[in-house]
Amino acid sequence: MSDKAVFVTQPYLPQLEEFIPYLQDIWDSKILTNGGPMHRQLEQALADYLGVEHVALFNNGTIALLTALQALRITGEVITTPYSFVATAHSLLWNGINPVFVDIDPDTLNLDPAKIEAAITPNTTAIMPVHCYGNPCDVEAIQRIADNYNLRVIYDAAHAFAVEDKGGSILRHGDLSVLSFHATKVFNTFEGGAIICPDAKTKQRIDRLKNFGFVDEVTVVAPGINGKMSEVNAAFGLLQLQHIDKAIARRREIDHHYRDQLNCVKGIQTINGTGQSKANYSYFPILVETDYPLTRNGLYQRLKDNNIFARRYFYPLISEFPMYRGMASAACENLPTASMISEKVICLPIHPALEQDDLEKIVQIIKTS
Ligand SMILES: *Cc1c(COP(=O)(O)O)cnc(C)c1O
Repeated sequence: MSDKAVFVTQPYLPQLEEFIPYLQDIWDSKILTNGGPMHRQLEQALADYLGVEHVALFNNGTIALLTALQALRITGEVITTPYSFVATAHSLLWNGINPVFVDIDPDTLNLDPAKIEAAITPNTTAIMPVHCYGNPCDVEAIQRIADNYNLRVIYDAAHAFAVEDKGGSILRHGDLSVLSFHATKVFNTFEGGAIICPDAKTKQRIDRLKNFGFVDEVTVVAPGINGKMSEVNAAFGLLQLQHIDKAIARRREIDHHYRDQLNCVKGIQTINGTGQSKANYSYFPILVETDYPLTRNGLYQRLKDNNIFARRYFYPLISEFPMYRGMASAACENLPTASMISEKVICLPIHPALEQDDLEKIVQIIKTS
């Protein structure tokens, strides 16, 4: 049909000319990293934009997850979701922590709070939920359980940039929240990430951990890592921030178009939000049910044959990868909902530069297959 490839996402890139003055500033200052002026400005700008207390920037979201676990000295077992990008559970393994997978809720596709308690053991120290597709978890139910059992909560909020509930930023919940600014995310700094934390003392510990544990020139207080964001990445974030509302607004239009067009298609189910007052439209997942004429993989292939590269996020489940599948909690019978959803899901292309005719072509293929 068409020759142009359409991908599930495409990084938002402002005009190159707009970035040159930022680069000029870096060349003038000759400060390339180590918490320079761009880094400081972006931390403040993000705290203001997101409406959160403290932002600690990182070189990527995965190192931020690793560091968040270190910052709270998490050990033993951590309850998490199998329905996520693999970095969520990998961050636990890298810290010598055992992930314990708990099933998801069929409506929200997030960790099912009703199933958490049964997975708690004397070794459980924390819960690591994911706001999957930017849809908020049941943060209150999760906090209640955490309070009852004295557990910490670290949200993998990689999908949840700018998402708000009635009380403000979704990132204020739990002990810490972790963002990813990878090229494929709603807000990108090429590579990057951040930890959102409520108090200055924790922020200070995180800042030390991401800089080898240095406190001053001669004092190292922890076996830290190199998690610092460079000045170029931070500068790009400052520029990106000026375009973010426009980018999210275009995503919203695409989301609404898909919903309007696909809601009446037999065998295609769209996913509703989970009560956010501000969404970021980061993904557009659909579930391909048995009464659709094609299987999920059939539709995935049909789109591919038409140069539409949708993605099956999240298939396979994290719990199916070789380093996890031997764990008791990874058994398919323990994760019936996640297993079922993982077999039905396709994420359709959604990004600010997606053109209307491509959008209509995607809808047409789904409607007429
Ligand atoms: C992207 C992503 C990460 C990892 O972030 P990076 O910045 O790519 O390291 C972690 N968790 C989830 C849920 C993600 O989508």
